[in-house]
This record gives sequence, structure tokens and C-alpha cells, in this order.
Amino acid sequence: MDSSIEKVVSLCKRRGFIFQSSEIYGGFSAIYDYGPLGIELKNQISQLWWREMTHAHENIVGLDSGILMHPKIWEASGHVNAFNDPLIDCKHCKARFRSDEFEKDSKSTIWKDIQCPRCGTVGSLTEPRQFNLMFKTNIGPVAEKGTEAYLRPETAQGIYVNYLLVQGAMRLKVPFGIAQIGKAFRNEIIARNFIFRTREFEQLEMQYFVKPGSDDKIFQEWKEKRMAFYVDFLNIDKSSLRFYKHGEDDLAHYAKEACDIEYKFPFGWSEIEGVHNRTNFDLSQHEKFSGKKMSYFDQQKNERYLPYIIETSAGLNRMLLTVLTNAYWDDKENNRIVLKLSPKIAPIKAAICPLTKKDGLPEKARKIMDILKSKFKVIFDQQGSIGKRYYRQDEAGTPFGITIDHQTLEDNTVTIRFRDTQRQERMLTENLVDILNEST
Ligand code: ATP
Repeated sequence: MDSSIEKVVSLCKRRGFIFQSSEIYGGFSAIYDYGPLGIELKNQISQLWWREMTHAHENIVGLDSGILMHPKIWEASGHVNAFNDPLIDCKHCKARFRSDEFEKDSKSTIWKDIQCPRCGTVGSLTEPRQFNLMFKTNIGPVAEKGTEAYLRPETAQGIYVNYLLVQGAMRLKVPFGIAQIGKAFRNEIIARNFIFRTREFEQLEMQYFVKPGSDDKIFQEWKEKRMAFYVDFLNIDKSSLRFYKHGEDDLAHYAKEACDIEYKFPFGWSEIEGVHNRTNFDLSQHEKFSGKKMSYFDQQKNERYLPYIIETSAGLNRMLLTVLTNAYWDDKENNRIVLKLSPKIAPIKAAICPLTKKDGLPEKARKIMDILKSKFKVIFDQQGSIGKRYYRQDEAGTPFGITIDHQTLEDNTVTIRFRDTQRQERMLTENLVDILNEST
């Protein structure tokens, strides 16, 4: 693992963002648990996305479909037959690779002639074998043929199969979108880079139903909008983001055009979100497999057609890793680690710190806490010196420290400390709500 990712991993554990799953049993590969700050941060990011998609766009509505669905859905979508990764094993050191990744590095496809990148043995690699990425389970008490179901490998299909019900119920007219946040599962051959590639993850997907012919323009618009989300809402450095356009050789079978938004992680440029023009592939497949009409009827024009779909599909966990990596700041000058998280998404907005544990300061601090906690996620911290408390909160990404001292008892003023600059200012308690509100 890259050393700068290791620093993020260690901070995540130390401050309660992310833990390896089942740690007391030696860990469970490629699954992670989100601790108190991790879940707050994850919620903030997904709520921001949800508001931006569904509240800011009158023609985009939400959906929450099941993780388990009719198995025919995955036949129609192509996942049963085509959702495979070619897998290569090294017979010598037992390392396992995905051949598509391997080809990029080795520029060779003659597996017997090339060296294992891990142990260096020549001729020890097996031919690529196909490996389906879907997790299978059984419905009912007996695991027999005909009872198989799959944990969904993407949330998109739940939207496609419901789209006419949603459209009818909400009286939507093309173009319109359906957004969904939910878990997806992929039995990844090689899961690595912390929460970047895991076997259980969350997707933030929005499927936009458009009239064929308008798809190219709308695709471009969504590409730009999605890039702007990372810069304007999540405060990611522009220079660490780029588009990667899929060429003929890596375009998915269902796509007319596809573009990834990539972030420059310490382990290299990698995809955080895909924007795809999926044409009417999925709807026509569901029409075929279900025998039900999937076309949309335009009442004004009296015409019926299968809409094209522009998809924006992001991984919440990859977004989180992007945010954490981007925010990590080793402030050597002041000998502290800071997470420069945007106050919009910081898991804790402010720490309320009575300077000492006596003279009525904790009681006064509690009163301030009671006012703030109805509006913001704030915490009460009276453990250790004030300097240590501030540094703890710097690592947690808390943008404000609010200190209650003896003067507070006299004139109702507090000291507010700003995380990045460490500037401190004295202000009236009544102004705190406004200051915190302005930043969120
Ligand atoms: P990759 O090429 O990295 O495997 P993909 O092209 O298969 O990704 P999509 O099927 O387009 O990914 O899924 C949309 C988004 O879901 C991705 O941009 C990514 O953010 C997220 N995602 C996909 N697979 C995983 C995974 N195993 N772990 C975490 N997030 C994932």
C-alpha cells in the first residue's frame, strides 16, 4: 500500500472513521466498518448528493429498491453472462491478478512467457479464467436449483424495472431522472487500496431518461455537472481531478459513450464516478425478458418510444476516500495533522471545550452545547489540555473549537478557534449559530 494511503488508513482508525471488518477475528478481507466519524462523514456526503440531485432538480425523484430482486433481471442486464473478470493465478507464489489490469502493465498477453509481477517467476501464470462477480444466495430454506438469487452488483437495475411505475405515480415527463443510494456487492478478485475497491460498497446512482437524439447533449451536460459537484460541493482540488473518456476497446457493451471522473489518488489516477450513455439497451432487454412494454408514451406528441438513459454512477466509499485523501494535511510547521474538510461535510461542526473542569465552566458550556446541538453535530470535550483537545479535533476535521472560560461567565463571550489558520476570535455566544450556519 502507498505510504500516504497508509497515513490516511491510520488516521481513520485512530479517530474512529473506518475500521477493518471483524478485526478481532483477524479481519475480513475487503470489507470495512464505518465508525462514529466515518458514518457522519458518509451521511453528510450522501445527503449533499441527494439534495443536489433530487431537491435541486424538480424533475429528479428518489427511489429505494431491494437489494434482492428477481433473478431474471440479471439475465436481462447481461450480468449473469457477461459480468466477468478474467482471472490469472501464479502457480508459484499463489498471487492472483485481473488480466485486464495486468495487460496494461506488461503489454503482453502471452501468459506463459511473462514474469509474475509478485515473485518474478517466468512461466508460472495460468491462462485467464472467467470469474463472475455476482454473489449468489438462495431464497427459502433449501439451497436447490430455482431458488438462486443475487445480491445486486449495481443499484441501476432497480431503477430501470421501476421506471414506469415512478413515472406514472409522479406524472413525470421525459426528460426526468430517478436517483438511488444503496449497497451493491461485487465479488472482486483483487480488492485493494483500502476502501477504494471493496466487495460491499454503496452507490449513488442517477438514471436520467431522455428522448433519443437529445442524448449526446444531455450526456455532456451531466459530465460537467458531476465534475462541478466534486469541486464546488466537496472542495476537491481541480488539479487532482480529470475526465477519462472510454475508447472503443474499453467501452461497456451497453454504452454509446462513457466517461469516468478520476481522482489522483496516492496509488494513481483512478475512477470515482462513471457517466454513461446506456442508450435504450437496458429497457429493451427488460422488455424482451419480462414480456412487458417498457416504452414511454408522450401524450402531447402522441408518440411512444424507449427512452435513452444517461447514467451518473458514483461510489460513496470512493468519494469518501477522495475527500479524506484530499483533506489530509501534514502541517509540519505546527506539528499537527489536519483534515481540511469542508465545514459542509465535516462530521463534527464544533467542539465545545470548557477551559477547566471547575468554577461552573462545564455547566455553562453545557448550556451552549444544548443550544447548538439542536442544529449541528457538536461534541463536548473537557479531557486534557486545551491544546491537545484542539489537535484531536484538527485530526477529526472539526472546523471550529469553542472555548468557554471565566470571561464567558461575566460577559457571555467565548473564544472561537478556526481549524486551518488556528486564528482565535472572541465573540458573543448569540453569534455562534450564525457563524456555524454560514459555514454549512
Ligand atoms: P472499476 O473499473 O474500478 O471496477 P467499474 O467501471 O466497474 O469500476 P461501475 O460499474 O461503473 O464501476 O460502477 C460505478 C461506480 O461504483 C464506480 O465509479 C465506483 O465509484 C463504484 N464502484 C464500483 N465497484 C466498486 C468496488 N468494488 N468498491 C467500491 N466502489 C466501487
